[in-house]
Amino acid sequence: MTFRSQTPSQIVRLPSYFLWDCFNSGKLVAGTTHKACPDRSALCRELQIARENAVGLKQCHGDRIAWVHQGQVDEIAETDALVTNQSGVLLTIRTADCVPVFVFDPETLTIALIHAGWKGARLGIVKKTILELAGRSGSDVKRLQAALGPSIRSCCYEFRSDQIPEFKSFMKPVNGKHHFDLIGYLFQELEGLGIPQSSIFDSGLCTFCNPGDFFSYRREQENAGRMISFMMLP
Ligand SMILES: [Zn+2]
Repeated sequence: MTFRSQTPSQIVRLPSYFLWDCFNSGKLVAGTTHKACPDRSALCRELQIARENAVGLKQCHGDRIAWVHQGQVDEIAETDALVTNQSGVLLTIRTADCVPVFVFDPETLTIALIHAGWKGARLGIVKKTILELAGRSGSDVKRLQAALGPSIRSCCYEFRSDQIPEFKSFMKPVNGKHHFDLIGYLFQELEGLGIPQSSIFDSGLCTFCNPGDFFSYRREQENAGRMISFMMLP
């Protein structure tokens, strides 16, 4: 596995299986849907993939999962995770602090891409997606591989409350405020499902700390652009 840290793309490759990446998708102009810079179409052009083979989401910080296939509608409403076992289907999500979670089953060649902020994490979007993937494809969860992409980290993730019971042990005090370690929470959830620690890859990258490489909603507020994370079976 290699990880190439480079603006504007962060690329992780696993030989011959699939490609995952976070692609800076450009600024969204505040208050409009006008895209001033590249988007999913630009990503398809860069990857030389037909636009109709790319699936995206209208994300809502929920726990709905879509199993997708070739020729599917290109944007699925109110959904935060995509799963497929078809080659050539480009799964995409957009983030600007939330965690892009990539899941891969090397045995059944099934992949999932999950948008996980704290609300989705609390609803169990990651766990539900993995159980959905394993249940439908007959995967052994112990053989799955997962990766956690660039996202806001506990160094910068000030959280308004330390009163959410399931997050309590992932809060740390910083200058009288509460900082949340969402990555730690997700890591523990993945391990708890049976994925070995050695099969969980963490990019270690904080979106807030790295303005040259990543958009951050916390840092840029309404003017924040979005990264596109994507995943595809060749
Ligand atoms: Zn940071």
